[in-house]
Amino acid sequence: MAEIVIKNLRKNFGDFTAVKESSFTIEDGEFFMLLGPSGCGKTTTLRMIAGLELPTSGEIYLDGEEISQQPPSKRDIAFVFQMFALYPHMNVRRNISYPLVSQGMPKRDVKTKVAEVAGILGIEDILDRPVGGLSGGDRQRVALGRAIVRDPKAFMMDEPLGALDAEFRERMAEELRALHDRMNATTVYVTHDQLEAMQMGDKIVVMNNAVVEQFGTPQEIYDKPATMFVADFIGSPSMNFLHFNGAAHQGAAQVSMNGSSYAVPKLHQNAKGNLVFGVRPEHVKLSDQGALRAKVLASEYLGTTQIITLESESGTLKARVDSHQSVRVGEMIGLDFKPETITLFDADSGNALA
Ligand code: ATP
Repeated sequence: MAEIVIKNLRKNFGDFTAVKESSFTIEDGEFFMLLGPSGCGKTTTLRMIAGLELPTSGEIYLDGEEISQQPPSKRDIAFVFQMFALYPHMNVRRNISYPLVSQGMPKRDVKTKVAEVAGILGIEDILDRPVGGLSGGDRQRVALGRAIVRDPKAFMMDEPLGALDAEFRERMAEELRALHDRMNATTVYVTHDQLEAMQMGDKIVVMNNAVVEQFGTPQEIYDKPATMFVADFIGSPSMNFLHFNGAAHQGAAQVSMNGSSYAVPKLHQNAKGNLVFGVRPEHVKLSDQGALRAKVLASEYLGTTQIITLESESGTLKARVDSHQSVRVGEMIGLDFKPETITLFDADSGNALA
């Protein structure tokens, strides 16, 4: 069991706040992603969970026990760094067995454990090779082997695939996820890559400017973004935002934008003030009957779909449509949206109106 509960966690470095009052729960066995742009506080959060950094305030619980001020050695949490610090003069077997040998584990048990880990990672045939000559992927596997050999309660991974090229990165991501599914160990994984987070994570925390913006499953975060930041950060191309003044009519499921009316979900009936109409590109329908008129600026062919860039009176937007749909640059077309695919935001706070 390794459930990690984070409560009002804060970290100041002098006058600078790297993490502000963050709270979320990582359930036992979850592959949990900390996602956000560079400098938002992901690594600092991860380091506080591992004990490499002490919180300024707030609490961290591991299986119900408060560990906030415990040293890393007491926490039974393994940290996998981006730059794997393998011992270059040792072979693979010695690199993996090192944590056990330094704990004083009997030789026979070490041998059994290393063989088990090599089996899980599929590296039995390179155990006697020096690490210096290994490929990037094998080095990655050895580093993982060294982390999992101790049977820690949880793994912390800081952009472990960050240094790899795109194709290889994808393969290693699949391998890591499969490894996690075999071992079922709680894993907290830092990334700034939204696609990686969506593909690999059971749950995602999206951070921005030291603050947790949203916490949920990939689907919740994609379908129901809590803020404009999340809506913009997740998805490619990102969500379209059309700004409009005025109000959704009280009591009527309609919104007026530049003289046109749109049906919106009942949920949003009472929205008013400076509002933002958010719609994902795949939910923008090109239709002659569409109430919002737009000019086609460009079309980008992507195989099964194409991305159409459009200019409307309310702003520029992108539509992802079937690549067989014929669209000419320069033509005027109508746009339509299904009410349930629209998210309305308060323009001032950036928060979704639910
Ligand atoms: P990246 O992906 O770039 O590492 P991150 O989201 O992981 O970004 P952190 O490394 O947690 O961000 O850093 C958050 C902020 O805290 C940054 O502005 C960073 O410069 C600052 N910071 C981190 N560690 C320290 C430190 N020891 N002293 C002072 N400032 C720090």
